[in-house]
Amino acid sequence: MRAWSIEKPGGREVLKQIEVEKPVPKQGELLIEVKAAGVNRTDTLTRQNTGLSRPYPILGIEVSGVVAENQSTDPDLNAGTRVCGLVNHGGYGEYVIMPADRAMILPDELTFEEGAAIPEVFLTAYQTLYWLGELEEKEKILIHAAGSGVGTAAIQLASQLSQATIFATAGHPEKLEKAKELGAHVLVNYKEESFDERVNEVTEGAGVDVILDFIGASYWEMNLESCAVDARWVLIGTLGGSEVAEVSLGDLMKKRIALKGTLLTPRSDAYKAQLSKEFAEIAMPLFKEKQLKPVVHTVIPFKELPEAHRIMEDNENTGKIILKVSD
Ligand code: NAP
Repeated sequence: MRAWSIEKPGGREVLKQIEVEKPVPKQGELLIEVKAAGVNRTDTLTRQNTGLSRPYPILGIEVSGVVAENQSTDPDLNAGTRVCGLVNHGGYGEYVIMPADRAMILPDELTFEEGAAIPEVFLTAYQTLYWLGELEEKEKILIHAAGSGVGTAAIQLASQLSQATIFATAGHPEKLEKAKELGAHVLVNYKEESFDERVNEVTEGAGVDVILDFIGASYWEMNLESCAVDARWVLIGTLGGSEVAEVSLGDLMKKRIALKGTLLTPRSDAYKAQLSKEFAEIAMPLFKEKQLKPVVHTVIPFKELPEAHRIMEDNENTGKIILKVSD
């Protein structure tokens, strides 16, 4: 089968199409014939990871497709079932192994390209908002990188599941327009104004209850200023750097801020299975009713994967970049 790996860690030029044997599923696993794969920041980071050793992995951590072989005892996942879900690696290949307990059945209303736009960003957003951020009904939430895959998912979940008041930041007007369409209320172009000032103006100094932070160091001070008392601040990315020059722990204490960091990819199989199961029960039905929508920026043909990585690394996308693997 065809798949994408790397020649060595590095830039987009190291991406390499290879021919490999189809993987063989073990007990509890599915063999998926991949139709589409989502492209994620973690893939670009894996591509650059100098700590990787040979043989280099097939990239890709989420897919949609059709079950080709079911080695689990779940009769709902028999061959021919349309599914989407997280994989440990190997998503950019014509076949991949998926642990059966994290497969989510793809509603007929969604295309495979839309299905591949769901697992990583919606599961990350769901986990961050509810398991870590403990977002309550009608609370106020600040969502950075509002045009990102995770940002567009988080806005929809906070709006549809919690009727939250949503503050969204992004660096381009069209990303903010999309955020508004998906349910955000207060829009801040971070290149033109300070988001903490807007948050405090709109909330009359009260601040927000939850922050979904992809940015890290460059937003540290402004995030602190934006937090309400008892705020939950969940750090899931460091696009703006990971080292803060000066930290006043007193500020965290005064506002009783809970600051949590997380990474989904290294979590255990059991954690991913539980998260997928809960999400499938609570949120997947909302895709049928179009209350939730996968946000697909573009679909890229399989042979043009380096272009998909370029779009992501140049921050051009609003929502997901999808790799079309087969018809
Ligand atoms: P994405 O679609 O590529 O979007 C990221 C967006 O962030 C960019 O388009 C850009 O939009 C904005 N951005 C980039 N650098 C910035 C900076 N220095 N300051 C402010 N904004 C900046 O990303 P994604 O796949 O949704 O992932 C978003 C982030 O979440 C990534 O950092 C990723 O690693 C992380 N993530 C973490 C987990 C986890 O479990 N911890 C899971 C999934 C993703 P603008 O045009 O608005 O600047």
